[in-house]
Amino acid sequence: MKGEFLQALPIIETIQENGYEAYFVGGSVRDFLLDRKIGDVDIATSATPDEVQKMFPKTIDVGKKHGTVIVLLNGKSYEVTTFRTEGQYVDYRKPQYVRFIRSLKEDLRRRDFTINAMAMDKTGEIIDYFGGKNDLKNRVIRTVGNPYERFSEDALRMLRALRFVSQLSFQLEEETKNAIIRWNRLLKEISIERITNEMEKLFAGQSSNQAIRLLAETDVYRHLPGISHLQDRLLKITDYPLQQLTEREDYWLFLTYMLKIEDVRMFLQQWKLPRKLIQNVALQRERLSVLLEKGWTNYLLYQAGIDSALQLERVKQVLQKEKNVSAFQTLKDQYINLPIRSRADLAITGKDILDIIEKKPGQWVSKYLQIIEEHVLNRKLENDSGNIKEWLIHCNQKLDENC
Ligand code: ATP
Ligand code: MG
Repeated sequence: MKGEFLQALPIIETIQENGYEAYFVGGSVRDFLLDRKIGDVDIATSATPDEVQKMFPKTIDVGKKHGTVIVLLNGKSYEVTTFRTEGQYVDYRKPQYVRFIRSLKEDLRRRDFTINAMAMDKTGEIIDYFGGKNDLKNRVIRTVGNPYERFSEDALRMLRALRFVSQLSFQLEEETKNAIIRWNRLLKEISIERITNEMEKLFAGQSSNQAIRLLAETDVYRHLPGISHLQDRLLKITDYPLQQLTEREDYWLFLTYMLKIEDVRMFLQQWKLPRKLIQNVALQRERLSVLLEKGWTNYLLYQAGIDSALQLERVKQVLQKEKNVSAFQTLKDQYINLPIRSRADLAITGKDILDIIEKKPGQWVSKYLQIIEEHVLNRKLENDSGNIKEWLIHCNQKLDENC
């Protein structure tokens, strides 16, 4: 058994000593069988949340009425969830009630996909009532039970299906795919935050190209913010080496460029992304246009700063369908060799300018500073106060701020 499970084993043993069942379930079992990196180790049990809380000294109540208690053990936290079934779904996203039960099989039945509906006992034995192992072997995403019902209960599952296609490089089982085509419109009932969360996982997956093609083919894209009319552009994206994008902001920058989004801020607001991300991506989007037009100038590199510059380079390489690892080092070297890296490095200040040119303070000062910056960065002007002052006097006489 893998270390992640061994560490959590005392939880299962304690629950069993108290006379209840407990198993590892869900994503960790799937990822273990696929030999992928194991994320959170979740536990399912026949004990109720109150019973679980009594067994462990350190627990956190995160959603007892849904059955989940967090148990803290050796500095790690584990979700321990009581076996449950769910009542009729309302609004295509939430069950009317959840009922705690004592049957593992019924708990596994309510889970979304066969590959997510397996359990593992404390000896490492896999419990697989719904053909999960077989689907893992054949690399398919298939709902537990009738996909038409399962997606109409909870529409988010459709996006989860595509997200797993991307993360695991699996195929969608045919009826599962047909059911998505049938029910994609129910996605309008799902909160944007949950949609965005799944979409970001989808973009980050190994097979995002395949998953994006499915977004287009199944018409799911029609219910995504700001792209409901952009099927052709979305399909174009699938020809690009998206795996070279590594950061969350990379995807949004690439996406807004490829989809030719005019109002980047508004588009990203529709996805309810954090303000900071929106701000960064909007700035980067402008810089990206400059980069594609003019290539790397010292001024652009200076303006962006090294981290944003590396991001622009990543996105540029994807847009140009190239992979040039050494370009990143070249860019770092170019950055280190810039004559200045911030305005504070400039050998002259706004106050100096006001002393030399006796005009009323105003916007013009920062305009001058910017021009000096550009000249210094382009090595037209040495970053030396005497030098710059001379240049200023000369320019001012000619009344030509660009000199
Ligand atoms: P990840 O690696 O992203 O955490 P995961 O499979 O663990 O993948 P979670 O969202 O953490 O996914 O959910 C844990 C488990 O709960 C899933 O494996 C699945 O069994 C079940 N599950 C999660 N969301 C749903 C849903 N919308 N409908 C049915 N079952 C779900
Ligand atoms: Mg998980």
